[in-house]
Amino acid sequence: MSEHLTRLDVYAPLSGVLVPLSDVPDPVFAERMVGDGVSLDPTSSELLAPVAGIVTHLHNAHHALTITTDDGIEVLVHIGIDTVMLRGEGFAPRIRQGERVTMGQPLIGFAADFVATRARSLLTQVLIANGGEEIHVAPFSGPVQAGRDVVMRIEHRPVTTELTMHSDHASATLFSEPVTLPNPQGLHARPAAVLAAAAKKFRADVRLLRGKDEANAKSVVSVMVLSTQAGDSIRVQASGADAAQAVRELAALLAAGCGEGAGESQAAASAPLTRPVTAPTAATGVASANPDIFPGVAASPGLAVGKVVQVRAQRIEVSEAGVGVVRERAHLDTALREAVRDVELLKREIADASKAKILDAHQELLADPELVDLAVENIANGKSAGWAWRAAFTLYAGELEGLDNALLRERANDVRDVGRRVLLLLAGVTHAKIDVPTGSILIAEELTPSDTATLDRSKVLGFCTVGGGATGHVAILARSFGIPAICGMDSAALKISDGTEVVIDGSAGTLRRNPDAAALSEAHARMTRHAARVEQEKAAAGAPAITRDGARIEVVANVRDAAETREAVAIGGEGVGLLRSEFLFSDRDTAPSEDEQAAAYRAVAEVLGRERPLVIRTLDIGGDKPLSYLPMPREDNPFLGLRGIRVSLDYPDMFRTQLRAMLKAAPVGNLHIMFPMIATLDELRAAKKILNEEQRNTGHTAKVGIMIEVPSAALIAERLAPEVDFFSIGTNDLTQYTLAMDRGHARLAREADGLHPSVLRLIGMTVDAAHQHDKWVGVCGGIAGDAMAVPVLIGLGVDELSVSVPAIPAVKALVCRLTRSECQSLAQEVLQMGTATEVRARLASFAD
Ligand code: PEP
Ligand code: MG
Repeated sequence: MSEHLTRLDVYAPLSGVLVPLSDVPDPVFAERMVGDGVSLDPTSSELLAPVAGIVTHLHNAHHALTITTDDGIEVLVHIGIDTVMLRGEGFAPRIRQGERVTMGQPLIGFAADFVATRARSLLTQVLIANGGEEIHVAPFSGPVQAGRDVVMRIEHRPVTTELTMHSDHASATLFSEPVTLPNPQGLHARPAAVLAAAAKKFRADVRLLRGKDEANAKSVVSVMVLSTQAGDSIRVQASGADAAQAVRELAALLAAGCGEGAGESQAAASAPLTRPVTAPTAATGVASANPDIFPGVAASPGLAVGKVVQVRAQRIEVSEAGVGVVRERAHLDTALREAVRDVELLKREIADASKAKILDAHQELLADPELVDLAVENIANGKSAGWAWRAAFTLYAGELEGLDNALLRERANDVRDVGRRVLLLLAGVTHAKIDVPTGSILIAEELTPSDTATLDRSKVLGFCTVGGGATGHVAILARSFGIPAICGMDSAALKISDGTEVVIDGSAGTLRRNPDAAALSEAHARMTRHAARVEQEKAAAGAPAITRDGARIEVVANVRDAAETREAVAIGGEGVGLLRSEFLFSDRDTAPSEDEQAAAYRAVAEVLGRERPLVIRTLDIGGDKPLSYLPMPREDNPFLGLRGIRVSLDYPDMFRTQLRAMLKAAPVGNLHIMFPMIATLDELRAAKKILNEEQRNTGHTAKVGIMIEVPSAALIAERLAPEVDFFSIGTNDLTQYTLAMDRGHARLAREADGLHPSVLRLIGMTVDAAHQHDKWVGVCGGIAGDAMAVPVLIGLGVDELSVSVPAIPAVKALVCRLTRSECQSLAQEVLQMGTATEVRARLASFAD
């Protein structure tokens, strides 16, 4: 045996009070069948990593996970007792299986009141799950704070493997007949522990096999990593002296549900042994997700129960009658040429060779003589180019679909795809409103900001998209509507049938299909509790937001129009910190006129009156906000190209028109004009020069500010401050540009965190520079409405928080619970940290 001793301190994953394992009201834990360790009665609800290592197992129900340290120690954390029954409801994983985590990193958030009322207990077990190794666990006692205090110290002396390796290699490998797993939740911690304890009694090497996947039956973690589900077909494999007995007894135990008693005893219990083999199967143990829970990235909080509506590309209307064969033919030829060019451009953007090949096929189809001839024939019969083309490609696709050859059948989809592309060009269509029944939850590959902006909020309860991230404009819109939304969704959700009942949890980022009666009543209970809290906060929202030590923080709204402004004022909004004027420009075919714009801005100003501030941002398009009628050159990196103020400076007429329209609101409101995406002093000066000219022309004036959303602006804030009246920090863009992570990138959505210390440092620098020049600073990016971020922003000295309308009462209530001095110390502390995870861990414990 090796003399090498490994020591490990295991830290509190939650704040609370330590409880000896023997007091846990569940024999599986109390008798240490899963492993030795300690239990914790929690007072916090964000589970932090107790050690650094790799998450080798995250249970599908998100209530338990195992971290394996670099020394091979398996630390298993199991939140609550019987929580597997919740099937993920109430749990929000922050990490994925296979991820490396640092000590203190948030792992799983959970709704403590929800879990506490549904499960047997919230007692959380922290266990050392390694099987067959010598290990000494010294649990601590008393109260502990998450991420700070040690809950147990372990000494671990790995056993050398020679002793077990040699003895049985000569004997045959035996298998049981397949056993159908009866356990409703598969082999989760409890049955896995029962099985592993039984397996350890044998000297034989014992494995569970499911297809190609394999687990060591003596290891609780290995069995859990197999991620079994009810109905899985499992065989027991054993080799060694007592293999026959091991196979027989363990197969019987599996068939009987490993102590869960869920299944009838199966034939396998007395199954004869079969087929000796020599070659062992490779261990893979791929995790499979619960098929009814679809994970994604939390984009807008809230919970809703509704029916699925899959949103697919819009129907395109074309008239049937043509206006002459020559003109219709020319129209078709032009559209075909444009489509070829568009596909060519698309191809250049695609790095993936297989996708580029699909586009090659599309180009071929655009020149397919049979297809084009069909359309031409229809035109010759007096039809419009659009009608003729649609009839042609629909017929052609239908014929391909009817063929016996699978490859050709697949081409039918390509024909439809490319057919739609040409049809859109022929119809000159850019956008159609999404129309759905009441109580809908939308699922789409992608929604554009204008799709989202035009959603009927009385009918749409929430939505999920496969693309996009939490700081993208679609997510921002969802937050402004106060409806739950999930981005970066598992694409399997696109296959859920229309009309299926689902629960969308925008806070956890999960969609649950076909919830049972218990899950539904729980969802309704949560919605009722949430609504009651919102009502309380709304009732108090008329009062100003003042910290307990007297600092006034202005809480204002991010809005799109006068109607939203009215809603904001009604629930305590003290003004508008960001009117995103681009919404007036999108979802239409031409730019709005000066009068139309003036009427819209004036309407907002009238709602607010002369006291409450109105900050109107000049057009911020480009990047993920294109305008159909403003042809912009194709750019390799549109977020780094013509965006925000750069577009306005490139189209000075449009810019001047907008400024004049804004200035017309000056006589009725407290007008502030703000320029987006300022990166340099030159841009600011160029924009101000034009504004000054228009102020002189109109005789009206406004306060002038800029958005700080490009790191360069934060870095030269000292130089910018004397030339403006205020700053507003756009943390959505500031985060994407600081971390070089696209705000709409689904894969990076978790890391693109506005609480990253680099972003917080830039905010701190901006505030300091502004205050040196007696200028005020707001934050209008998404983190202004994030309860975790608010104390830090106040601590950094921010004067104004501009948030989505539904968030106003909660943000005001939160400000009133804080003191500025404690926020200042907190901000100084987190500024010294190195990762967003550390910052979030500290903020979670601050909130406890
Ligand atoms: C921001 O970038 O944080 C911001 C508020 O602007 P937008 O989200 O509209 O780009
Ligand atoms: Mg921005």
